[in-house]
Amino acid sequence: MTTQRLAVRGLEHEFRAAGGAVPALARIDLTIEPGEFVTLAGPSGCGKSTLLRLLAGLLRPSTGTITLGDNPITGPGAERGVVFQRPALYPWLTVRDNVAVGLKLRGVGRDERRETADRHLATVGLTDAADRKPYELSGGMQQRAQIARVLAGDPDIVLMDEPFGALDALTRERLQAELLALWRRTGKTIVFITHSVDEAVYLGSRVLVMSPRPGRIVFDESARFLRDGQPVPTDEVRTLPEFTALAARVRDAISER
Ligand code: ADP
Ligand code: MG
Repeated sequence: MTTQRLAVRGLEHEFRAAGGAVPALARIDLTIEPGEFVTLAGPSGCGKSTLLRLLAGLLRPSTGTITLGDNPITGPGAERGVVFQRPALYPWLTVRDNVAVGLKLRGVGRDERRETADRHLATVGLTDAADRKPYELSGGMQQRAQIARVLAGDPDIVLMDEPFGALDALTRERLQAELLALWRRTGKTIVFITHSVDEAVYLGSRVLVMSPRPGRIVFDESARFLRDGQPVPTDEVRTLPEFTALAARVRDAISER
């Protein structure tokens, strides 16, 4: 469904802080094809979130350009949905209304909002929680609600910043499997930041690693595990020797300077 290529050219970013300039991204050239699931790993503080915010249009680059198809990215857009590390839900709205909030802003009618919200709540397994308030949900359920809200906007590109970082291992594994199934079903482009090597290799169709700050892309490999031309079932992927070998290369790339 996604038809537009995301192209980052000569990107650099520097923050102006009280103590002086903080160079966050050194020089990034990166092309993301429609339908790729790109995972990005790297040491803490290397500029991963900065890159994601630039792709989201929440920050403007100091140098360089980011384009989507033929158009430069100059701000946020409905074709790019952002999932943050901490779910930012409106505490006074029900889960359903939180999921529908963007649709309401776009003027979608009440019945259609409800139908769309409920469909996406079902996708993330939250049907029974639709009428509850966010504080009545566990962290994992709140994160599912945030993902449902982003999906309800039907973005071509989903930008995710360590979305499962704060979850317990079991919930994280379940959401990883659901996200992979969703990606296979929809063909959306996903850019997913993680500090977990296992998560990067398990989820990505392509794995990137960033150097310590100022961040550069120092590793870029395909991570498709195929058998007879078909994707290896997700519950077997972690047992493949190719999986372990790629994870080792990613780990090396993260620890090299
Ligand atoms: P990561 O997500 O990889 O942990 P970030 O992109 O959040 O890293 O940050 C990269 C660097 O930029 C860090 O050194 C961080 O302290 C700095 N930084 C991030 N945001 C700002 C800001 N608004 N002002 C000044 N420095 C910032
Ligand atoms: Mg970050």
